[in-house]
Amino acid sequence: MAKVITRTRALGSPGKYIQGRGEIKSLGAYLSGLGKRPLILIDPFLYEDLRGVLLEQLKEDGFETAFLEFSGEISENEIKRVTTVAKQEKCNAVVGIGGGKTIDTGKAVANNIGSPVVVVPTAASTDAPCSALSVIYTDEGVYSKVIRFGRNPDLVLVDTDIVSKAPVRLLVSGMGDALATFFEARANQDSDSANYIGTGFRRSLSGMALSRLCYDILLAQGVKAKAAVERNACTDAVEDIIEANTLLSGLGFENCGCAAAHGIHDGLTALEETHHLYHGEKVAFGTVCQLVMENRPIEEINEVLSFCRSVGLPTMLKDLRLENASKEDLMKVAKKSIAEDSTIHAEPFEVSDKMVYDAMVTADSLAKIFADAA
Ligand SMILES: [Zn+2]
Repeated sequence: MAKVITRTRALGSPGKYIQGRGEIKSLGAYLSGLGKRPLILIDPFLYEDLRGVLLEQLKEDGFETAFLEFSGEISENEIKRVTTVAKQEKCNAVVGIGGGKTIDTGKAVANNIGSPVVVVPTAASTDAPCSALSVIYTDEGVYSKVIRFGRNPDLVLVDTDIVSKAPVRLLVSGMGDALATFFEARANQDSDSANYIGTGFRRSLSGMALSRLCYDILLAQGVKAKAAVERNACTDAVEDIIEANTLLSGLGFENCGCAAAHGIHDGLTALEETHHLYHGEKVAFGTVCQLVMENRPIEEINEVLSFCRSVGLPTMLKDLRLENASKEDLMKVAKKSIAEDSTIHAEPFEVSDKMVYDAMVTADSLAKIFADAA
């Protein structure tokens, strides 16, 4: 990870962030300053419903709209397909509505046609919506690369009626992703690493404060939010957690940087057994490993373990279906975690594969001790 070579600090963010119940119905009002010919890309499972709602409404508001159903995979081919339609239809704005892959495709297409982009996440499962990057896969769904754009979305619009009706596991996974934000920001602060704004600047005080707030909100509102969403209810606690997962975690990671928790997440993908897990579930386990590696106080580790158990995030190897993994398997994870471009190298010390392995098995043991004492 590049060490900071500048004293210049920077904070990046989406142009606007709007979150509330039924807000999708106001899309026209928010789009009016951005482009009168939007291309609207929608997830397959919401396509018919949302197209019906938006078509009439945007027509009334004087927009000429092109609708497109997302193919399901964010590949070079899919980005090319959507870009071609956007050019044919002379679109001057892109709206991506759906999960992370739909949103990231919208960002890439807007970048290709040089237009503003509006992001409408339909779940609070990761902190990607606010960021200026897209994760690209092959047509077969294998991770390919990250593309960084010069600008963040012009607007992130979150309709909490939609998000609170998404499966509860998505919200919990988003909490796992958000759980890492403060601890990774702190590691970047300790190593004085560059953030992900532009070519990399020093983190700002604001970025650090937002990361800390993200963690505090999880502890205070996580259980209440999960309880509500399990019943498809949207309470203030749900609103708080959606903001923490989407905005606070998004601003936190982009402005302060990722570290070992995400590096170990990437490492875990080396094993087939973890492929059923969501991004944030693996990140949550990686967070505990990071704290072990940093030799943080047991009180802090137990606070994180307690939170994970309270909302149902994995803390033990068996929760990751790795109870039968051999030492060799876990070393595969450890080796992948320390790949050259891994965010693990933002830690304030040199990290070896052996250290990652030791942290993983120790985290597993600490989780068992904590569970037995509970
Ligand atoms: Zn993440």
